Amino acid sequence: MKRVQFEQLSRFTKSILLAYTIAFFAPYAVRAEDSLARQVTHIADNREPVIEHPDQSTQASEKLAALEKKFKKKPNILVFLMDDVGWGDPGCYGGGLASGAPTENIDRLAREGLRLTSCYAQPSCSPTRATIMTGRLPMRHGILRPPMYGEPGGLQGEVTLAQVLSKAGYTTQAVGKWHMGENRESQPQNVGFDDFYGFLGVSDVYTEWRDPYFYPEIVSSPARTKIVENSAFNKCLVRSKKGGELENVEEITIPVCSTLDEKWANYSVDFLKQQAKSDKPFFLYHCTRGCHFDNYPNEKFKGKSPARYPFKDVLVEIDDVLGRLVKTLEETGQLDNTLIFVTSDNGPEMETWPDAGYTPFRGAKGNTWEGGMRVPGIAYWRGVITPGRTSDGLFDLSDIFTTSCSLAGVSNDIPKDRYIDGVDQTSFLISPNGDSNRKFEYYWLMKTLSAVRIGEFKFFRAASTTAADDVQNVGGFSGVAETYSYGKMFNLYLDPKETHSYLIRKLVYNEVFQNALKKHADTFKKYPPKISVSVE
Ligand code: CA
Repeated sequence: MKRVQFEQLSRFTKSILLAYTIAFFAPYAVRAEDSLARQVTHIADNREPVIEHPDQSTQASEKLAALEKKFKKKPNILVFLMDDVGWGDPGCYGGGLASGAPTENIDRLAREGLRLTSCYAQPSCSPTRATIMTGRLPMRHGILRPPMYGEPGGLQGEVTLAQVLSKAGYTTQAVGKWHMGENRESQPQNVGFDDFYGFLGVSDVYTEWRDPYFYPEIVSSPARTKIVENSAFNKCLVRSKKGGELENVEEITIPVCSTLDEKWANYSVDFLKQQAKSDKPFFLYHCTRGCHFDNYPNEKFKGKSPARYPFKDVLVEIDDVLGRLVKTLEETGQLDNTLIFVTSDNGPEMETWPDAGYTPFRGAKGNTWEGGMRVPGIAYWRGVITPGRTSDGLFDLSDIFTTSCSLAGVSNDIPKDRYIDGVDQTSFLISPNGDSNRKFEYYWLMKTLSAVRIGEFKFFRAASTTAADDVQNVGGFSGVAETYSYGKMFNLYLDPKETHSYLIRKLVYNEVFQNALKKHADTFKKYPPKISVSVE
């Protein structure tokens, strides 16, 4: 039979074929559940209610059972957490080469996995990290803002993901930035990690007072330098083993800082190679140094991004680190049994521009506008997560806790004596057309319940910035600057920059949103808030 080229077909035939093609693929491309109209199920007093999807849960369970049969162990979990990388920085979210920093590895995982467009962190570093580690919002785990310069606070009294997975037989490894409190009880080796290699604080405390450009008044003054040197915070790259003491490896000077992401990548690569020989599954919590200010690119990457700015060079480097970890998993035969979740701990930091990332949304790190909390979220698992998926279903980083417990088969070990905000999103991630099991995203501005999102609508009660001051140099931790007694309602599909409140037209949803806020607030009556690190 003679083959007919598409170009040779008549215009009519072409249009019919195209129409069929679009009709065939369109339901998959645009498919999205109307979560606003769905009822939630209250699975327990101490648990965030869920949207149930029995069919996709069955599909997910079958996939996992087949996998366990093949690999004879539970799946590995790799959380790759970037720092201050905005929603708009990776190429797969509109940045990448277009903004001077190609992110080919992040983009590839998004292309071959599930790209989440509504993945939410907390407004800043430590609150998010502790939320991932506990499955609980900051008002419950108590770290409302980042502890700085050795401040105590942290994870004491919490049940961490590392502890639960460790008990389930996982090898638990943390690499990179910790920043959940320097106090002994909050250090990684005391909250469930077998091994830790990284630093305890946040990048800027190691370098800013050493940098003659930003701190000439300290660098040129031995007396002032002495004050910082005597300040009680750990200034070193450290290492620790479960139950042991923290060991200082070397002081983090600016040249050392520029090598940290490389050192941490090497450490994780070695860990992954070791794990290939183990009968136990692993949990690797790899937190990059990049791209928190100030960025000092590794010599290998300095000036190598098209933008040639430090933030961009470092973004290219951490993308390369991700590529190295994935390659190691592939070479050691572990890629098909490892969930890789790539995300960032908050929106871009705009007070340090141009050492800063990008978000197309309003606001930035430190506030509850979308720019502060909506972050990249990519779930990749070769052979398990259907390639090429994109979903705007809600995913909160607290869901990593509950989802990981589910993958490890220990959902029964999720604490029952405290409130858990995370939702088990296993079926959302691994069912071929999975929908999110989360109906509500809550936005907390430290101690204030600022907003709630349901579907495409976001109802706002209080904000940290006003219209006049949230465009440039957005402040990080100013707390509530504006409260709206009447409220504001934004449609994030029509108005992603949250500039046109049209609550008066949407009063039909008022009860839905007021109920959501009230029910969420009520959970704190039975499970009172805990404050460990706050502004007051
Ligand atoms: Ca951060």
